Amino acid sequence: MSAINGAVLVLSGPSGAGKSSLIHKIVDDIGKCYFSISTTTRPIREGETEGVDYYFVDEAEFKKEIEEDNFLEYAVVHGNYYGTSLKPVKKALTEGKLIIFDIDVQGNSAINSRLGEITTSVFITPPTLSELKIRLENRQTDNQDVIERRIKMARREIQRISEYEYVLINDDLQRAAQKLSLIAKIARFKKSNEEINEFVQKWEDL
Ligand code: 5GP
Repeated sequence: MSAINGAVLVLSGPSGAGKSSLIHKIVDDIGKCYFSISTTTRPIREGETEGVDYYFVDEAEFKKEIEEDNFLEYAVVHGNYYGTSLKPVKKALTEGKLIIFDIDVQGNSAINSRLGEITTSVFITPPTLSELKIRLENRQTDNQDVIERRIKMARREIQRISEYEYVLINDDLQRAAQKLSLIAKIARFKKSNEEINEFVQKWEDL
């Protein structure tokens, strides 16, 4: 089977679950990958860089992109728009890369309906809600209102945990990173029906 085609790894979970730290820890260990950079209307946070963390746009620009059908998926999260552009995803797939998405449960559902055959999904969470609260408060990046909203959202998202193939409890960063690295490596082996059919055809021709 050709190794040219890529695959998809979706990571979801509440803000404060440690997704970014885990990604940083495994990046050198998992081979060729592309981190999907989303477009968002939420304000840029301290420490974030345009074009690295997100493409930051206003609502009018975002809506124009929706009309032009530029998104593979988009959703409203915490009152702001977030979306994944289609073009770089297509490019990375044809380059045989593992595409990593950090998106919410709505995004996971949309990606699964469009690219389900080659998608592996992981829900990352701290061991308990109280631990999540402690982490969000310690981060000191958000005010109390935002923290409350994130907690409310987390309680809603955890109800959809069964939509994920893997649940990763991030109680120890080192151990969780080892597990995520294994999942990412195996995710590459997923093949679409089209790829399998192509392989069978070529195989019979020999
Ligand atoms: P944050 O504002 O903390 O960076 O992200 C808030 C939430 O939006 C997170 O759950 C994150 O996974 C989700 N998110 C980020 N980009 C996208 C996207 O392109 N699509 C969807 N559906 N969710 C996204």
